Amino acid sequence: MADLMNTQNQDKKEEIKEFEEEVVPNVTNIKSQETFLLPSKGLFYTNQNMKSITLRRMTVKEDKIRLRNDGEDKIRKNLLQACTIGEGIDIGQLTLFDVNYLLFCLRRISLLNNIYKVRCYCPHCEAEFIDEVDLSKLKIKYAEEGNLPNFDIILPISKIKIKLKYPSLNNTIMLRENIIEYLKMNADEEVGELLYELGDIIYIDKVNGGSMITEELEDFIDNLDIVDLRAIKDGIKKLDGQYGIDDDILCKCPNCKKDVHHGLPITGELFSPSL
Ligand SMILES: [Zn+2]
Repeated sequence: MADLMNTQNQDKKEEIKEFEEEVVPNVTNIKSQETFLLPSKGLFYTNQNMKSITLRRMTVKEDKIRLRNDGEDKIRKNLLQACTIGEGIDIGQLTLFDVNYLLFCLRRISLLNNIYKVRCYCPHCEAEFIDEVDLSKLKIKYAEEGNLPNFDIILPISKIKIKLKYPSLNNTIMLRENIIEYLKMNADEEVGELLYELGDIIYIDKVNGGSMITEELEDFIDNLDIVDLRAIKDGIKKLDGQYGIDDDILCKCPNCKKDVHHGLPITGELFSPSL
């Protein structure tokens, strides 16, 4: 009987220990702030101070920003801006891959927990499982001066010179607001049709060396030859996935033991792990 009590006590103690480890991470050596070299290394920005960004840990005040009824992009901007230390840094000017990288950095320093749980689906045996990704072991693809992607395209039919760019967070926030506004006024318009050109517009920096406002760009794209538009879309495709967190993650299906690739979606799990 005494033995049994002991075993039960032991179990209980272990349970409590596990629980404590889960909820209260190792709280020694907490860094209140940390500086992160951006995957872009600032090479796509005019502001020289935007090579690396110093973030401080989130407080409850910032955690509440996540609950606002804003678009995802706007929430990310406000959240990162609030935790950014240093003058003259506008998070809205960062490329999306820099923003995503910083979000994962903020999660790491704020939650003191490097495990990110991603829901996976095995294409071999159709099992659903959760992969625990260690955020401290992610591979980051950095831009290198002298080996930057090709931003210049000459359109095959019209011979117009296009300079592409990486869209900024501000660009996508504006895109979202434009779409919402547009759909309010044109309720029967197809969203797909709208995204067909608006999604490309945010990647266009210059047309024949000059800048255009969104309305001019819409007009410009509308009147393009479809072969020319295809050339723009191809150029954009080559820019995507070059830099930032390498989100092609390999794990083993616990059911059939075969290799499964998955991405790194930003979900509610990032700042409120629950799985
Ligand atoms: Zn499987």
